[in-house]
Amino acid sequence: MINVTKPFLAPQAEYEAYLSGIWQRGWLTNNGPLVNELEAELKNYLQLPHLHFLSNGTIALQIAIKALNLQGEILTTPFSYVATTSSIVWENCRAVFVDIDPETLNIDPNLLEQHIGPNTSAILATHVYGNPCDIDAIQKIADKHNLKVIYDAAHCFGSEYKGQSVFAFGDVSTCSFHATKLFHTIEGGALMSPSEEIAQRLGYMRNFGHDGPESFAEVGINGKNSEFHAAMGLVNLKHIARIRQSRLDQKAYYDKALKGLPLSQPKILAQAQPNYSYYPIIFESEEALLKTVKALNSHWIYPRRYFYPALNSLNYVDQQSCPLAEDISKRVLCLPMYVELSEAEMKLITNVIHKALK
Ligand SMILES: *Cc1c(COP(=O)(O)O)cnc(C)c1O
Repeated sequence: MINVTKPFLAPQAEYEAYLSGIWQRGWLTNNGPLVNELEAELKNYLQLPHLHFLSNGTIALQIAIKALNLQGEILTTPFSYVATTSSIVWENCRAVFVDIDPETLNIDPNLLEQHIGPNTSAILATHVYGNPCDIDAIQKIADKHNLKVIYDAAHCFGSEYKGQSVFAFGDVSTCSFHATKLFHTIEGGALMSPSEEIAQRLGYMRNFGHDGPESFAEVGINGKNSEFHAAMGLVNLKHIARIRQSRLDQKAYYDKALKGLPLSQPKILAQAQPNYSYYPIIFESEEALLKTVKALNSHWIYPRRYFYPALNSLNYVDQQSCPLAEDISKRVLCLPMYVELSEAEMKLITNVIHKALK
């Protein structure tokens, strides 16, 4: 069976090497030494001033919304994973959907202003598939209307914009380190902000609001992560070059093997350097997609419809129309991509697609 992804696992001994230290210290969680080591290594690798390791990427989004005191309406994309929208609703804000640019599949900055009203407090955009948004255009509109910007950068480990980590942009960026993501800590996530003041607040909020053993700066929640998860991150970070290179190699293989077929791919902005953590293909029709999925499934190959359905169709948001996102979400499919995926497997996958589209 070939799934859309397979979690990366380093040799077991590398993980076990961290366990004796955890047992010796008896320090399992609560800002432990491995959590601190991982945060320091990530800040160094990504060249970021502030980064907090979180228990997952969804709580990261919720804390980001809370820490920026967002209320009322948040402009967001209908083309993302459900956590982007559910976090807005969970924090008692209204999700106002702004349709996507059908070429990049990211929120269309040209459509933002027509949705801004007296209750708009922020923009929450996703860099879909690790492909950076038009950050400059979004920031310009945010500055003009005094809006905060949060990026759901769950897919973006290693992605860059203008030569800098994409996590360096916006008021806050969030990432997911879930087992299915390019860099993972089993479950996990991160909060990044270029602002010292916001970063400090994010840190308090992730730890019940504690600013001392017996004092609380403000309301918080438990968004901490453990020494065991940090150890997995430290192990995986040692393999990050190989993990990232395998995505580039697989993308090159797929590009070549699928050439000439009636498929398209998201456009990448000149100033953006994505991590190619996913391999999305856009079909000419949903019918062609379904036919291809059926053919792949018959060979035990399971791609995923990331992202389907469009989030404006969720039953807990008010009705808003986003024709472009609705159309794309019906026609886009992500092909398998993970370190262990072999060339023989990619050959099978692409052969089946060729036959299905004949
Ligand atoms: C994976 C993902 C999340 C959620 O991250 P978790 O760590 O699973 O909570 C949020 N947004 C996007 C776009 C994602 O792909």
